[in-house]
Amino acid sequence: MPELPEVETFVRGLASAVGRTIASADVPDTRLAVTSEDLAGARIAAILRKGKYIKLNFEDGRKLVIHLRMSGRLRLDCDGDERQYVRLVLHLDDGESIYFVDPRRLGTADVCEDGFHVPLGVDPLDPGFTKEALAALLSRSRAPIKPFLLNQRKIGGMGNIYAAEALWRARIDPRRRANELTGVEVGRLHKAIVEVLTEAIARLGTTLGSSVSDYRPTSGEGGSFRLAVYGREGEPCSRCGEPIERVIQAGRSTCFCPKCQR
Ligand SMILES: [Zn+2]
Repeated sequence: MPELPEVETFVRGLASAVGRTIASADVPDTRLAVTSEDLAGARIAAILRKGKYIKLNFEDGRKLVIHLRMSGRLRLDCDGDERQYVRLVLHLDDGESIYFVDPRRLGTADVCEDGFHVPLGVDPLDPGFTKEALAALLSRSRAPIKPFLLNQRKIGGMGNIYAAEALWRARIDPRRRANELTGVEVGRLHKAIVEVLTEAIARLGTTLGSSVSDYRPTSGEGGSFRLAVYGREGEPCSRCGEPIERVIQAGRSTCFCPKCQR
């Protein structure tokens, strides 16, 4: 958390900053790998998401690459509670500012001089993420399908929440091996991944709780995506009524319905 829909929500919220120049920057957290000298004077040509990364492409070819990790967020305004967690501020030439707020301080910000070198798989919202592309990736892996979906080198942007939700929608047991899914199941999974992510973006993501570390698309309101299985262990499946179960896979919890996910 935040995953692809939450990161995409932040990127869309920064649209008005595209074309602006960074007049000055404050870096109150010296643990970040950027300095105000790196950033002052740069003109923002584009703000893009790649997997769970946010890229501010500068006109001079450099990029500011931010990963929000557990609790990071980017805002054009920053009030009361969040002010103490500001790690970086970009003051723009139109008077607006971009705030990198991060209560748990696990996020990263780096200026890349020559491109973006993180090995990331296909973005699930990219036109290249077709059923055939997913089938090809799955056919080369014997990993259980849930950890497979979290591998950023295969598909960039999926995380624990939306992987569990997509598997529930596709009615696939998270313990099945990737290369053993049938063609029909791959088709259902592809459709479910795209649907879950698209719906979550329309709902500005998922807010899990009310602590300052929990994701919020704006400083007040939470995202309104409704979870079918994630965090619902013991509750009845909304499709068949069977209690939702939880297993640990590769160190991560997975909630699923033992009756209608096969
Ligand atoms: Zn069920």
